[in-house]
Amino acid sequence: MAAPAHTMPAATGQAQTYGNYIGGEWRPAASGETFEDRSPANTDDLVGRFASSAKEDVEAAVAAAAEAADGWRRTSAVARANILHKAAEILASRQEQVGRELTREEGKTLKEGIGETGRAVQILRYFAGEAQQPSGEHYPSMNPLTLLYTVREPLGVVGVITPWNFPIAIPAWKIAPALAFGNTVVFKPASLTPLCAVRLVEALAEAGLPPGVLNLVTGSAGAVGDPLVRDPRIAGVTFTGSNAVGADLRKIAAETGAKLQLELGGKNPAIVLADADLDHALAHVVSGAMMSTGQKCTATSRAIVDRSIAAAFTERLVEKVKALKVGDPLQAETQIGPVISEDSAERIAGEVDAARQSGANLLAGGDRPSENGHGRGHFVAPTLFGDVDPASKLGQEELFGPVLGVIPVDGMDEALAVANTVRFGLSASLFTRDLGKALTFAREIQAGVVHVNSETPGAEPHVPFGGMKGSSSYSREQGKAARDFFTQTKTVYIDPPPA
Ligand code: ADP
Repeated sequence: MAAPAHTMPAATGQAQTYGNYIGGEWRPAASGETFEDRSPANTDDLVGRFASSAKEDVEAAVAAAAEAADGWRRTSAVARANILHKAAEILASRQEQVGRELTREEGKTLKEGIGETGRAVQILRYFAGEAQQPSGEHYPSMNPLTLLYTVREPLGVVGVITPWNFPIAIPAWKIAPALAFGNTVVFKPASLTPLCAVRLVEALAEAGLPPGVLNLVTGSAGAVGDPLVRDPRIAGVTFTGSNAVGADLRKIAAETGAKLQLELGGKNPAIVLADADLDHALAHVVSGAMMSTGQKCTATSRAIVDRSIAAAFTERLVEKVKALKVGDPLQAETQIGPVISEDSAERIAGEVDAARQSGANLLAGGDRPSENGHGRGHFVAPTLFGDVDPASKLGQEELFGPVLGVIPVDGMDEALAVANTVRFGLSASLFTRDLGKALTFAREIQAGVVHVNSETPGAEPHVPFGGMKGSSSYSREQGKAARDFFTQTKTVYIDPPPA
């Protein structure tokens, strides 16, 4: 790929510097300041330098988005769809390179990095098609001569705030529908993964988005995120991240009146009943808990296992968890990369220690590997606890790392009660051959995404995604549900003039 236009000249071997994208131009932060982005697998590896923006950059981006809003709203859905299609093809042509950059920047394995980039392509294609689907309904009126219909119109300028754990897929699934349905966007990515954000914006910009329709502002939560959500010109905010930040955003949106969409944490259960195919359940529980180093909001963190098989199942889990290969995510044989940051690694290790000290039964992991050069990365060993008390912190709180707890239960009723006794409700799995129990589970589990005989993280991009209870703000993303958030309804009565 040719060097992007915004890359400042860099001596050979030096990291590149990337700007903000505002009003159709790549430019440095007004202050000229930058911040560093380093690989979590090896902190000697400087991925790039990015604009360290502040309120004035946010204001310029919101002004550009506000200025572009009328033109974009009036652009035909077909023209918008064509741009999304083209962006999809541009990104597809770079899938391997961007996937590799994703792995270098975020730390998930290369297979996952390339796979996630492919998912972003698929999302862009899906919303190109969705842009041309019906955008309203026709109703009979009390007056037979009245034309009575509804039409879904864009909100205006939307703020998109994204986390680091799916650094290209989550931005794509927020930005693609926002644009498809006629909104303009100010995008603030997580400051731990700004390169993926740049790559997505490049594809959309090169596909022909008019200036100001999509704006990227990189920088910290306080200096960029906060002024963005407080800006009175922002009509909607879509956010994926922690419950703590979500709680703050609820207060701010209550003051500004912006429409708000929150996708937050999970404490996702996988229930394994005695009649399940145990090989299959084991494979899905381990992969659901450990892939992406456990850093998915849909990751399995509780294996709720029928007591009659709990000992045997746990023994096999220990073997499988211990056999996972931790290391450089760019190496093909690696199964588990680092966690995102030293803060994260220390926090997880601290929680694991605290659990151990309060009597939890550590069966695998629990340490921070330092051999084979791991000392320069933020590595945490895949960790398994047995006999976890469902009411303990380990049984209740999201750790966002490669940590799984086994909770033995007596039968389906107790399994469901335990599964539901948490403040979250994002995703949940049941492993069984019993159709009746599968139906009961699908009916009774408090989760927005429900799996029978597959792992908790599975989420296809063309169906609604989101959680119940503390896991979201009752709205759903992706699929047809995306239109609900990114549009508002106008009801139109057209009567003929009196004859
Ligand atoms: P994570 O650590 O999973 O990324 P966070 O909730 O800390 O979760 O952050 C998610 C995104 O929200 C990031 O882009 C972050 O910079 C941004 N953010 C964090 N705090 C705020 C805030 N107070 N206002 C706006 N954005 C914020």
